[in-house]
Amino acid sequence: MTKFEALGLQKSLLDAVADMGFENPSEVQEKAIPILLEDETDLVALAQTGTGKTAAFGFPLIQKIDRESRTTQGLILSPTRELCLQITNELQHYSKYEKSINVVAIYGGASITEQARQIKRGAQIVVATPGRMKDMIGRRLVDISKIDYCVLDEADEMLNMGFFEDIKDILSNTPDEKSTWLFSATMPKEVSLIAKKFMHSPQEITVGAKNSGATTVQHEYYVVGGRDRYPALKRLADTNPDIFSVVFCRTKRDTQKVAEKLIEDGYNAGALHGDLSQNQRDLVMNAFRKKQIQMLVATDVAARGIDVDDITHVINYQLPDEIETYTHRSGRTGRAGKSGISMVIVTRSELRKIKAIEKKIKQDFLARNIPTGMEICEIQLYHLANKIKDTKINPEVDNYLPAINDVLEGIDREELIKKIVSVEFTRFYNYYNKSKDLNSATSDRGNERGGAPSNGAVRYFINVGEKDGYDWMSLKDFVRDTVGLGKEDVFKVDVKDSFSFFNTDAEATEQILATFKDFKVDGRFVNVEISKSPGGGGRRRGGFKDKGKRKDRSWDNDRGRSKRREKGNSSSPNSGKRRSKKRKGDFF
Ligand code: ADP
Ligand code: MG
Repeated sequence: MTKFEALGLQKSLLDAVADMGFENPSEVQEKAIPILLEDETDLVALAQTGTGKTAAFGFPLIQKIDRESRTTQGLILSPTRELCLQITNELQHYSKYEKSINVVAIYGGASITEQARQIKRGAQIVVATPGRMKDMIGRRLVDISKIDYCVLDEADEMLNMGFFEDIKDILSNTPDEKSTWLFSATMPKEVSLIAKKFMHSPQEITVGAKNSGATTVQHEYYVVGGRDRYPALKRLADTNPDIFSVVFCRTKRDTQKVAEKLIEDGYNAGALHGDLSQNQRDLVMNAFRKKQIQMLVATDVAARGIDVDDITHVINYQLPDEIETYTHRSGRTGRAGKSGISMVIVTRSELRKIKAIEKKIKQDFLARNIPTGMEICEIQLYHLANKIKDTKINPEVDNYLPAINDVLEGIDREELIKKIVSVEFTRFYNYYNKSKDLNSATSDRGNERGGAPSNGAVRYFINVGEKDGYDWMSLKDFVRDTVGLGKEDVFKVDVKDSFSFFNTDAEATEQILATFKDFKVDGRFVNVEISKSPGGGGRRRGGFKDKGKRKDRSWDNDRGRSKRREKGNSSSPNSGKRRSKKRKGDFF
């Protein structure tokens, strides 16, 4: 007997399961399916994205439908058109050996008459977005007065998108004695309200965070002084040259202000908040989807609909008031099987909020330090070297080559390389050289988590990165397994496009360097060196801090800026570099 058979599924479904190549039920399936098959009960199931919730309600629903009747017996509400189509498609796969079962999708933005026609032909199961469903009920194009089962899928997301009233309306058109199955990744107040109001003593199941989508997100926090939020944000962006991120602020005003400053400082940024017109918001979102915007600064409300998959970083410029909101924010990254990083900029007085979030998400935060100026310079330098290496040569250059050769005559290769990288490097160097340490000393949690105290740590450079298919988790595994280190021995892994950094304790250095001496993967040298900058910002030089602070206080205030302007310097290492691509005002 297979594990799926043990759950009580019938032959036609087991055959479909085998066709789909599912070998073992997922945890939520294992818990939900027997309950839903055996009892007529309401159910609240909490499980993260990617845990197989569709089948957890889909299998029992299909098994329980009366295939002899054409009446609509099951209604599934889901937040978006994409999810609606996805669920419909999955259910059609599940019921492939049940030819008489019809599943119809109802969603906005497509012909309502065509959808009505499909319903009329007889749909035992309707999968709908709340808006279109309400619309069709109003026009009497669908009858849900006899349903036996109502599924609220991604309930938190639906409520987050403002569908509470619609859902209430829709449910008021359904019979009282139906069973309601609610599936959600999180349980915010609104969801428990729905459960209280519309469900009768529901059974509850919760699936642990392991194997869940959430573990692909690394949570990090950075403690800074209240006035250093903005310079800290810039450094986080500068250490991640390929960042594609959403930066969350608490108010519309801050959102606008931070975006404007970033644009002024030469970053590809845009603002998304409720004071913009629909048209402006569409423009920003389109530019973001096309990655013309690397940093989308947004309010929580405005960011609700963001359906972009490859977001590398979520940056909490300020923490939200509600912990639930943090879950929604960080869930914008680490989607579609990718890993992501959720960064939080906090002041010391907000540290207790980090503890509260950790408890809620059942995952620890990494205490990290804002990179020092020199670390940023190093990263930018490697990034530049790789960019040069990967640049496709423009054949047009050939025409000018004789003249260029004349100009560069007498410079040997080494000197030429130094000059080329200095073109960009010097800009960062001048900006960050002597810049202050932004980290606010914290007593008990000053050290990075998951590793030894950072003062004994060594930071390494390794010449593989995202391009080679690594993310922070897989690179950590790779180094650990290759060298034969323990679970927590490799930490502060920072994966860039074509290179990365990581830390270990000093004791492991010899072993690391020996292992990676002449080390090849797939015929390619994988090279590890000790990084020039200190342990990823891991060292706190308490004694120097105050001095540095006084000296460099002007870096990010107006006086400092105008001084730099006088000298012909820019207010940011990026000024002039990215500015040409997107000018201020494009999105306002
Ligand atoms: P959720 O709704 O929880 O986000 P889905 O139901 O969309 O998750 O499932 C995520 C992916 O996992 C889908 O591609 C689905 O086909 C696959 N899947 C679901 N259950 C299993 C299983 N038991 N074995 C293997 N893959 C599964
Ligand atoms: Mg789902």
